[in-house]
Amino acid sequence: MTIEALGWDEFFNTYFKPYKQEGYQPARVTQEHKNSYVVYTNEGEFIARISGKMRYTTRNYSDFPAVGDWVVVKAYPQEEKATIHAILPRKNKFSRKAVLSGGMPDTGGKTEEQVLAANIDSVFLVSGMDGNFNLRRIERYMTAAYDSGTNPVIVMNKIDLCDDIQSRIAEVEAITFDTPILPVSALKNNGIDQLGPYLIGGKTVVFLGSSGVGKSSLINRLLGIERLRVNSLRKNDHRGRHTTTTRELIVLENGGVIIDTPGLREFQPWKGEEDLIAAFEDIAVLAEQCRFRDCRHENEPDCAVHRALSEGLLNHKRFENYLQMIKEARFLEIRQNQNAQQAEKTRWKQISKWQKRRKEII
Ligand code: GDP
Ligand code: ZN
Repeated sequence: MTIEALGWDEFFNTYFKPYKQEGYQPARVTQEHKNSYVVYTNEGEFIARISGKMRYTTRNYSDFPAVGDWVVVKAYPQEEKATIHAILPRKNKFSRKAVLSGGMPDTGGKTEEQVLAANIDSVFLVSGMDGNFNLRRIERYMTAAYDSGTNPVIVMNKIDLCDDIQSRIAEVEAITFDTPILPVSALKNNGIDQLGPYLIGGKTVVFLGSSGVGKSSLINRLLGIERLRVNSLRKNDHRGRHTTTTRELIVLENGGVIIDTPGLREFQPWKGEEDLIAAFEDIAVLAEQCRFRDCRHENEPDCAVHRALSEGLLNHKRFENYLQMIKEARFLEIRQNQNAQQAEKTRWKQISKWQKRRKEII
């Protein structure tokens, strides 16, 4: 299998040129471990580590290689090892904001971008047409796909459990416009060939969707075999430890690459309200004392959060972090629900009316 089958093209070749003369070769990251990677080159697979220089100069989490990245390596075939010297520019990336552990309360819960997969052509947004079906969730996944610069494709799985497929499709169409919609049943092996055009040689896809919607079943169908969760046993490092690993970048026989990592499986379009409340419980407690139940602690009157800030009871940095985290979620919410914007206007009208009346009383 050549690297072209894995998606190597002119885009990456252009950026690779300066390295070519120096004896480097391109490789795609197929697995990510704590301190090492598995990369695929034209000479086969290698365990790879970041070069000392790259480690020393890399500051951000997101500047380390992720599954799907094309990297510049020097391979040592006798030792089945390679060194990663650089990441070639990403066409796109799928990432999440991670709250750094240890960075919690005092430092204000610093968040950093974590790349879950890179260089993706299509994102299959899988949902089940059973009790799991949820239009709002599809919208959130759609937004996440667009935000990452990738093309969403809606896969409506479990059509065998749905009595009225046509009206379900119409509901989805109404919110997704020109996005392709593929009704399938992984269980009954129905409609799976519709996924084929997105998985031709050199194209990379990821599967997103809640647990239980049928992602594994679909991947198994595409592979034509039951995928073994534990499928390779390899030497880990010089200490000779063995680790069992799951292939995270799967190459189909007739071309096409599927990236399926634990991080992608856990991906949720944004942190849920509950998560935010748990992470910023102090702010939640304060917010209960604000005059308005839905106070956003911006310029609302009688805001307990603002009072705490001015009295030095709440750290400004921490509050800024909180705002940053909810901003993204709220932005998406507003975009998803056109009525929300109207409601927002009405809410502020009420507030200003209330302020006026208070002034009159005083
Ligand atoms: P994942 O968590 O998204 O990977 O979901 P799985 O592939 O593990 O599937 C979850 C459950 O749904 C399993 O019990 C599957 O057998 C079942 N399932 C998957 N696809 C279909 C389908 O098309 N129809 C029905 N009825 N069940 C399905
Ligand atoms: Zn408030």
